[in-house]
Amino acid sequence: MSKFMFRNIFLSATMAFTLLACSSPQSSEVNLYSARKEQLIKPMLDEFTRQTGIKVNLVTGKADALLQRLQSEGANSPADVLITTDAGRLHRAKQAGVLQAVSSAVLTKSIPASYRDPQGYWFGLSLRARPIIYAKDRVQAVALSSYEALADEQWHKRICIRSSSNIYNQSLVASMIAANGVQATETWANRFVKNFARPPKGGDRDQIKAVASGQCDIAIANTYYLGQMIHSDKAEQKSAAAKVAVFWPNTSDRGTHVNISGAAVTQSAKHKDAAIKLIEFLTSDVAQQWYADTNLEYPVSWGTFKADTINLSKLGELNAEAVKLMDRAGWQ
Ligand code: FE
Repeated sequence: MSKFMFRNIFLSATMAFTLLACSSPQSSEVNLYSARKEQLIKPMLDEFTRQTGIKVNLVTGKADALLQRLQSEGANSPADVLITTDAGRLHRAKQAGVLQAVSSAVLTKSIPASYRDPQGYWFGLSLRARPIIYAKDRVQAVALSSYEALADEQWHKRICIRSSSNIYNQSLVASMIAANGVQATETWANRFVKNFARPPKGGDRDQIKAVASGQCDIAIANTYYLGQMIHSDKAEQKSAAAKVAVFWPNTSDRGTHVNISGAAVTQSAKHKDAAIKLIEFLTSDVAQQWYADTNLEYPVSWGTFKADTINLSKLGELNAEAVKLMDRAGWQ
């Protein structure tokens, strides 16, 4: 894959210029609603403040709760910037009318087109991949190939995956609709659910643990959860992680499903200039590297892989279709 590094050599110059150009007191602070936990983002915000003098007031919360809060606060919301995960969720925020389109030459230049909204409503900050995780002692990597092939009979009652109410799976299915169409994806989903080892429960980490403990042989999960288990100070998490391996599906066609965490300027933003500056800062090389490393969203230690190049705004557009399809297929 092409590395998700947002090259940005002119950033510091641009920032210095814009700082001089708008020294109004309005831009001396910016209010951020973040679905990323404080320890995963605070050091970068402090660095932003150190470089620009703009204070960042941070509110953290669960992704869906923050979106709801933005909606109920409406025009009175103090939020200037929203940071959240999944392009499907960013699309939902856009549809809900709580974001505004902004144009920034810095962001256009530094973020690949497939990782930002075509109209400028949201911008990708880091990349996450959702590959296959398999039991090393029970599955041969050569038996694996694609998401589509997980519907084959050989995987009968051998797969663990979380609920269809989760946006990660909705976005994965949306990517398959984009690639294969509704009908083929529905046929796939009907067979795929028959291969579930158990009714969906728990988060991605629970699926990986279930593979490690032998409840199933294959899971689909975001790689940073495995990364967290590998780096965990809990022995059982470490040993569970040691029993599984990552397989990058669909390398012979569109590539492995990827998604983003991203940032957006809110509709209610009262510090719009500062909001744009903050997002620009978070796409600078140094911030990118730190942010991705801290969130374990750069799976470089597992080697490079081929990422699906679909424009991620498609995932949001096809979200409703994906949800209905999973429901029809009986994916709980
Ligand atoms: Fe997650």
